[in-house]
Amino acid sequence: MKLLREGARQLGLDLTQEHLQAFQVYYEELIAWNAKFNLTAITEYEQVQIRHFLDSLSCVKALVGSEYLSPAAAEGRGLHLARPLTCIDVGSGAGFPGLPLKIVFPRLRLTLLEATGKKVTFLEHIVERLGLRQVTVLKGRAEELGQMAKHREHYDLVLARAVAEMPVLAEYLLPLCRLGGLCIAQKGSDAQAKVASAQRAIAILGGRLKKIIPVELTGLAETRYLVVLEKTARTPEKYPRRPGMPTKRPL
Ligand code: SAM
Repeated sequence: MKLLREGARQLGLDLTQEHLQAFQVYYEELIAWNAKFNLTAITEYEQVQIRHFLDSLSCVKALVGSEYLSPAAAEGRGLHLARPLTCIDVGSGAGFPGLPLKIVFPRLRLTLLEATGKKVTFLEHIVERLGLRQVTVLKGRAEELGQMAKHREHYDLVLARAVAEMPVLAEYLLPLCRLGGLCIAQKGSDAQAKVASAQRAIAILGGRLKKIIPVELTGLAETRYLVVLEKTARTPEKYPRRPGMPTKRPL
């Protein structure tokens, strides 16, 4: 896990032996389960460290300077959460980006939402195998959760990587975010254009673009981006629309 340790340090995260051991177990379980569950196309040891683990941890860049990180961060003593945050990872797949963040930030109260049964089975297994507490794995769709009182406008932090185009994603994420909370969408190239295409959707749903942060990861040629949205107004009751509608008729 050398690449991961070095890359994490550049993000301001000092990973301990315990963290690295957890990532090693995560890697081994991912590969073992991938054979029958087809969880990821990325299986090579170094690539998993960079494209899954480190890329997930890069979300921390969106939190630097926010109320979510403790002042210790500013003093360069490694980043810590200022308080236990509620966080949901929408379309988590094999746990990205939510689980690497949970390994590093144990105070995260994490919900992993995933629509596909076999991925949910893996998520339940890996959470137990890593002995992680305060993690809830849910099988369901973002459109359903966004209309449930328990989840609607509940989360401090709403995350997603590789789930949908930006206008669709805005309808998945913003209804789950509390007023004043943040949504982080991890994107590849053309983040500016992707956000521009979603400006209308973001405004309708009660959001505002806070910033787009470029991310350079050790060992990765391409630049990746964090699209950070702030929840500034309540989401109108009719959103999210019923499952499938955001994709069929994007706002
Ligand atoms: N976030 C993971 C990652 O980056 O490795 C998984 C990405 S995978 C390409 C997209 C995942 O989102 C799939 O596992 C799919 O089942 C899930 N998904 C897509 N639409 C969803 C929705 N509306 N609600 C919940 N999960 C959804």
